[in-house]
Amino acid sequence: MAVPFPLAPSLWATTAPAAAATPPLDQSVAVETCIVGGGYAGLSAALRLAERGTGVVLLESREPGWGASGRNGGQVIPGVKYDPSELVAKYGPAAGEALIRFVGATADKVFDLIARHGMDVPHVRAGWIQGAHNPAMVETVKRRAGEWAERGVAVTLYDADGMAAAVGARQYLAGWQDGRAGAIHPLAYARGLVRAAQKAGAQIHGDSRVVSIVKRGEVFEVATTQGPTVTARRVIVATGGYGDGLIPGLRETVIAPNSFIAATEPLGDNIAGSILPGGQVISDTRQLLLYFRRDHTNRLLMGGRGPFREPKSADDWAHLERAAVKLFPQIKGIAFDHRWCGRVTLTRDFLPHIHEPEPGLIVDIGCMGRGVGLQTAIGEALADYAATGDKASLPFPVVPIVPLPFHALHKLYVSAIIGWYRMTDGGLKAST
Ligand SMILES: Cc1cc2nc3c(=O)[nH]c(=O)nc-3n(C[C@H](O)[C@H](O)[C@H](O)COP(=O)(O)OP(=O)(O)OC[C@H]3O[C@@H](n4cnc5c(N)ncnc54)[C@H](O)[C@@H]3O)c2cc1C
Repeated sequence: MAVPFPLAPSLWATTAPAAAATPPLDQSVAVETCIVGGGYAGLSAALRLAERGTGVVLLESREPGWGASGRNGGQVIPGVKYDPSELVAKYGPAAGEALIRFVGATADKVFDLIARHGMDVPHVRAGWIQGAHNPAMVETVKRRAGEWAERGVAVTLYDADGMAAAVGARQYLAGWQDGRAGAIHPLAYARGLVRAAQKAGAQIHGDSRVVSIVKRGEVFEVATTQGPTVTARRVIVATGGYGDGLIPGLRETVIAPNSFIAATEPLGDNIAGSILPGGQVISDTRQLLLYFRRDHTNRLLMGGRGPFREPKSADDWAHLERAAVKLFPQIKGIAFDHRWCGRVTLTRDFLPHIHEPEPGLIVDIGCMGRGVGLQTAIGEALADYAATGDKASLPFPVVPIVPLPFHALHKLYVSAIIGWYRMTDGGLKAST
């Protein structure tokens, strides 16, 4: 089947339950807290604040979930780039263990919210597998699994045969499975958060791009393109990789490359049952990692790197489709009928950053491709901080906004780094 291009809507946009009404802000209001950005971070902050009884208005440029939150792979994976021992080494025993508890519970938060609010979100909690692509990474995944197991997490270690059985492809030398993880329909979850937040009393406005945030005495005046303003004592800015210079210097603190996903048509039962038969999600240990899963309609979704620029044609996904067929030759000839991409935000230290450039103006950025759970949990923490002023609510320290050196050249860096990793990661071998 010929695939039309450009494909504006993602698979998620064509399969999500209808969105709740989120009309533009049409008159100026005063409220305790204003949130800018309707991704997971902003929405979970809005829900938490409304549940605490704090007045909250959320302003989103497009529609809630339009950014990375409505386009991601839907893999709900706890943790961050760093292993528990690395977090303890970085932050010390007390703060390190507190952070380990926080990042270890992020997947729980997502599944708890879905259950507690009865959200209409296709989901499964069958674990996340990380596949080791070279001998050095075999040791890394064993150590990683061991560290989490010591903290009571249900982990499974696989050798090459075990991986072949779990994945349905003989590709990885070993792997580990984290039982806390799972999969969701990402846009359905964003829309579920909107409904839950509205029910709790939050006002959520789409088509309301914020153009300035100005402090006037004790309050901030948050102005939108269409004119009306929100006056608030606290402002939370959670604009992710789609922020546009609202906070001076913020965009320059991250690199925001595109991540690409291609999805097949729904697979027949025989083929679907031969791919990740246990229903887990998976990514691998390559620097330019591949991440893949089946969705609730048995499509195979293959995600990974793509060009830094916006896509120009379906060719920009061809490498992912080739990788999918190499891993699973049984899908040869089955059409990929959805292709989309979105921006992930990478900070210098691969951890989310929280800033407070003025007292009461709280800024969150940086997802490292793990934001489904992480940004949900950070949103709650930002809400607690906004409501109480207690910095102990925050999982990460508040740090100054420090632009990356030579940020203007970041597209060149990223292209060079991608070229380097492409050589050093090694390719997939044909599955047997
Ligand atoms: C293709 C892809 C695959 C991914 N896969 C996974 C995965 O499988 N698992 C995982 O954990 N994470 C994954 N991620 C990362 C995850 O999606 C993000 O970390 C998370 O969604 C970020 O949420 P957020 O709220 O910080 O930002 P976003 O969801 O990007 O939301 C920011 C919002 O702010 C709005 N905004 C920007 N400027 C303004 C303004 N001036 N005024 C008003 N609104 C504004 C934008 O329109 C946007 O909707 C993936 C990301 C991408 C792009």
